[in-house]
Amino acid sequence: MLNKFAVFLEWILFGSLLAVTVSGVGDGLVASFPLSFEIIGGIICVVAIFFALSRLRNPGWTLPLTAAFGLSVMALAARHFSSIQGSTAAAVPFLYFFVIAASGLLGKRFTWVLSFFCLVAGEIVHSGLNDSNGLEAVISGAAVFPFLSSAAYLLITGVFTSLVAAAYPITDNKKESASLLDSSEKEPQLAVISSSVPDLDPSKTQKFTIERVSESAQNAENDVQDLLNSVVYFMSRNFKAYSALAFVYNSKEKTFVLNSYQSKSAYIAKGVSIPLGKGVVGRIGSEQRSFMSGNFSNYNSETLYYTDREEVNSILAVPVISEQNELMGVLLIDSRDKFAFKDQDKEILKRFSTLAAALISNARMRIYQERVAQTFKIFYQTSHHFTTALKEKDVFDVLFQMIPMVAPCTRQMAIFYNEEKGCAVVTKIQGEGNDITEGMEFKLNSGIYSYALQKRKIVNINDFVQYESKYYRFMPEEIRNPQLRSLIIFPITDDESRCRGLFSVESNLPDLYHGEIEQVMATIVENASVALTRALLYQQMERLATTDGLTELNNHRHFQEILASEVERSRRYKRPLSLLLLDIDHFKSFNDTYGHPVGDLVLKEISACIRKSIRINDVPARYGGEEFTVIIPETAEEGALITAERIRSTIESHVIRSLDKELKVTVSIGCATHPSLAKSQQELIDNADKALYYSKEHGRNQVSLFNQGMKGKEKK
Ligand code: GH3
Ligand code: MG
Ligand code: MG
Repeated sequence: MLNKFAVFLEWILFGSLLAVTVSGVGDGLVASFPLSFEIIGGIICVVAIFFALSRLRNPGWTLPLTAAFGLSVMALAARHFSSIQGSTAAAVPFLYFFVIAASGLLGKRFTWVLSFFCLVAGEIVHSGLNDSNGLEAVISGAAVFPFLSSAAYLLITGVFTSLVAAAYPITDNKKESASLLDSSEKEPQLAVISSSVPDLDPSKTQKFTIERVSESAQNAENDVQDLLNSVVYFMSRNFKAYSALAFVYNSKEKTFVLNSYQSKSAYIAKGVSIPLGKGVVGRIGSEQRSFMSGNFSNYNSETLYYTDREEVNSILAVPVISEQNELMGVLLIDSRDKFAFKDQDKEILKRFSTLAAALISNARMRIYQERVAQTFKIFYQTSHHFTTALKEKDVFDVLFQMIPMVAPCTRQMAIFYNEEKGCAVVTKIQGEGNDITEGMEFKLNSGIYSYALQKRKIVNINDFVQYESKYYRFMPEEIRNPQLRSLIIFPITDDESRCRGLFSVESNLPDLYHGEIEQVMATIVENASVALTRALLYQQMERLATTDGLTELNNHRHFQEILASEVERSRRYKRPLSLLLLDIDHFKSFNDTYGHPVGDLVLKEISACIRKSIRINDVPARYGGEEFTVIIPETAEEGALITAERIRSTIESHVIRSLDKELKVTVSIGCATHPSLAKSQQELIDNADKALYYSKEHGRNQVSLFNQGMKGKEKK
């Protein structure tokens, strides 16, 4: 309200001045003589206008008015000259010059006071000189009326001016040349951010509140940008800068990256990164002090944030420093005007900087917390998955699935060291590149992978391109992979700290696996190592529980379990299932002749013969003693007999070398099939046994298929 009133009054003042100007100029033109005074006056006027221009930050449309005002004073002066032709009156145009100069130095508030002082002085001089008595006339009262009228005008103007000044609390000294009329038609200036928030873009002001920021849990990195956008927005509004910019300091690269800006220039170098110490921004960063210049061209420095040459004369910039004294960035405003910023602006920009530091710290803290929480979540998930991974394959599946969550990678590889073979084998590989394939073997040598395995050390290579000429990875004549840049190799150790294998992560980008990432990955790989050891132990226990120690075939208990499920499957899918039962012929006397150890060797070799003679889906087992069995799924009598015959003949022809002798044994085999020749698991075994007995009874070293006429061995 006060604003509008003040503006209204200003309009009246301007209007009346214009009227005076017009009449004064008219008067002056008619009466001016001699011309030389006019010319001097004109020159002074032009100088005055230029001076005013140079002091004005945003000339706007008030400049012509100021100029008109000056002309008016000139005209009045001219009138005086023409009427009295006295040299004393030449002081009047100088008074106007004085007014403009003083207003430039002191601020707009005084323009009116001084202007009217000038007018009044002119009137006094005019009256006094007309009476030819100079000051006497003033004292005697001849000039009392103009003096009083001018004094009254001055008084009113002073009051109005004070009102105007009150309506613009911070703009007077700071923005000495910004027009009151101009600014009052726009939104109010922002003295302190909070006081004028309701006038601003709601989407931006909302983001400005801390609660809101902490609410949005995602895209934390973007939040820093949004926050700085808001800060820059307020900066540009508050200072009426040509450009307002926020740079974020990247401590790793030692550069200031332009994060947000508001500018009237089309030449802002978007995303520019300015090295510490370079240009005005870099220098502020290195010196960690504010910088203010009203005549930047005097400095031997560059802005570096414009792509093209921009005429910038005033620069005000402050470093953004956290409470922990950590350099975070730089806030900068510039102007094409000279001396556009004052000390007060510096203080306000420092407040912006404190605010920006707090906001960035807050956002970064949240980013950090989120990352820590995310890492813990991954650790938790990983260890949970690892505990349920009972097989090597499962452990690697979990590992290969989890690693890309913590680090960018193009390929992962698991390598196992095979002690028996004395070489390392690539057991699992996932990702891009065909230089390495699953199953690839390499002997321990002086390659990078061998080094990691032998030394049980993490090998972390920032950029393999630089190493390639000096080192090889697996073997000297390996296929090159020009894509490979970052490479990290972790040893996989067991509970006795023996290196069982390696796990490596690669990327086609350099310098990826540093510090925290390496630690996180190492922790996951350690977890994987523990899980792998556990998986190996579990597998070992399982093997012990299900296999026969001598022959490494399934043991009797496990055979019964498998047979049960196969009978069930055969029943459900109505598929045939056959069973063979084998017994070594005259094995008792064999043992008696050659001894039990040779007998054991025979058992082992017969197991190998059985394995060799069956298909992958057939399940061999040691039934007990020197009896074996083979479960043959999906197979009816005919097929089973073929398998049985193959086993029999293989064993018959197999020579066992022991005690410098070539020994041979034969087996008798009985065969039964579900459901055609047996209705249950037990019946299947019993009937196969009857068929075996039949083979024994009919000359041994032969295969018999069960039929209903067969009888079993009489129970003792
Ligand atoms: P048949 O042709 O009738 O089968 O005659 P056999 O002598 O093989 O008779 P049987 O099958 O009853 O003999 C079992 C013999 O197998 C007894 C034992 O000497 C031998 N045997 C059983 N288990 C083992 C073992 O683990 N190691 C060794 N070396 N011999 C075993
Ligand atoms: Mg037997
Ligand atoms: Mg036997």
